[in-house]
Amino acid sequence: MEHKMHEYPVTEHIIKLACAKAAENNANRVAAINLVMGENCGYLPDSIILYFDIIAADTVCKDAKINIKSIKPKLRCNVCGNLFLRQPFKFGCPNPDCNGTGEPTDIGREFFLESLEFE
Ligand SMILES: [Zn+2]
Repeated sequence: MEHKMHEYPVTEHIIKLACAKAAENNANRVAAINLVMGENCGYLPDSIILYFDIIAADTVCKDAKINIKSIKPKLRCNVCGNLFLRQPFKFGCPNPDCNGTGEPTDIGREFFLESLEFE
């Protein structure tokens, strides 16, 4: 049995969704698929693009351009609520008047289809 990474089903899902939207809009072709992906979403953009070419081959999504907007993970200070980018090995709040600690947030875990462009 061929081994498939977990990007396969999620890519298939995106293509099905895009094909359904194309049909709703009477579009002949999906020109672009705009995705939002947090760096911590658990999926690899390269694998999605790889599977896309295979799965989309016989669909209206064939040759669509995949645009991926990458989101950097952010922490939220547990004292002042400040949102800040995570730095390697540093979790302290960058606000000089605050001794708070950054806690994980959902920023950076996004994974969704933002929009589609049709032809
Ligand atoms: Zn703070």
